[in-house]
Amino acid sequence: MEHIITSHICFDGHRLCHDRYFHIRDGIIIGVGKTSDPMPADIPVTDFGNHLITPGLIDAHVHICLDPYAPKKDVGSLVDVILTAQKNLHTLLDHGITCIRDVGAPQGILPALQNAQRRGMIQGPDIVHCGQAICACGGHGWQMSKEANGVDDIIRHVRENIKEGVDQIKLMVTGGINTKGDELAPLELTEEEIRAAVSEAHRRGRKVAVHTHGHSGIRAAIEAGVDSIEHGLLMDAKLAAMAKDKGCRLVPTLSAPYFAVVSGLKQEPDSESLKKSQEVMEIHRKNVAYAHQIGVSMVYGTDSGTPYNGFDTVLEEFVLLHEIGIDTLSIFQMATCQAAELLEVDATQGSLEVGKQATFLVFDQDPFQEIHQIRSLSHIILKGRKIR
Ligand SMILES: [Zn+2]
Repeated sequence: MEHIITSHICFDGHRLCHDRYFHIRDGIIIGVGKTSDPMPADIPVTDFGNHLITPGLIDAHVHICLDPYAPKKDVGSLVDVILTAQKNLHTLLDHGITCIRDVGAPQGILPALQNAQRRGMIQGPDIVHCGQAICACGGHGWQMSKEANGVDDIIRHVRENIKEGVDQIKLMVTGGINTKGDELAPLELTEEEIRAAVSEAHRRGRKVAVHTHGHSGIRAAIEAGVDSIEHGLLMDAKLAAMAKDKGCRLVPTLSAPYFAVVSGLKQEPDSESLKKSQEVMEIHRKNVAYAHQIGVSMVYGTDSGTPYNGFDTVLEEFVLLHEIGIDTLSIFQMATCQAAELLEVDATQGSLEVGKQATFLVFDQDPFQEIHQIRSLSHIILKGRKIR
């Protein structure tokens, strides 16, 4: 089945352009041109007029098995976890996120969900995943990670994860905000363990994402050649310059501390981990703004699933990134072409070009004029089919 989509204004995954048509067949873009040129004849046209159209957006850091609004709840049964994930996937898609990278969930669930989504059994974004994260014994996020003691152990976990079908590897290198008792900054895996994990993953063609907050963790991760720093809370000027030189990307996830503070502390004013978020939020924002200024390549990620950081607020990261001085075009690139490269889905996603998925978002008002209009998402066309 063929049809044509036209719009006066369009972000194509790289830049803003005007008066474009997109010729779609069987969910794939087969032609792109200017509406002033002759368009293919006898094919139905949907004209979105002055409404901005963009590719589907990509969130490179989520935890779909977690319930952000019940953070104190026990993980629950397997059925409970799967139903939570299914609901979260639906919410993400409904907010324009058409591809995700999940960076940590209980064993075995993500390969099954990825398979179910690919077969059309559940509706949700395309899934790239890291399976279970890998951490030090008792380290950050141990509840949803494989715990490693030593180089042999960490190599074994990387190999096991690959055997279980992960697309990428996630390491927890330093402490974090939400693990009871752990400190924010210290290195939890040794430099030797980090190097071993990265070398094994790369040898097997898997990229490595690293949760790290502290200086020593960020430095060790960049030196080991990881592909992305997640959060990077204490990434100072020297470390940002290092990341830029090594081509290491940053997935800042400003939403995680923001929602922990603005929503979480209202619910739990005495929570130690939520108070910790409040202490670090400003320094994080300053560091991310600096990293962007000097040209560290950044990718959109929200950390949705962490306490009070909902799947229904995934587009608010646009507003938070804009507030620290990042321009709207750069933010859209972070959530499209840049994210597609990091997730290695750029052959099919991240831009509106011939051969790619015919996945479009339509905004009633223009977020390039006013960033809050990112909330005006009105229509979603997923692989050629209008779903909203
Ligand atoms: Zn996370």
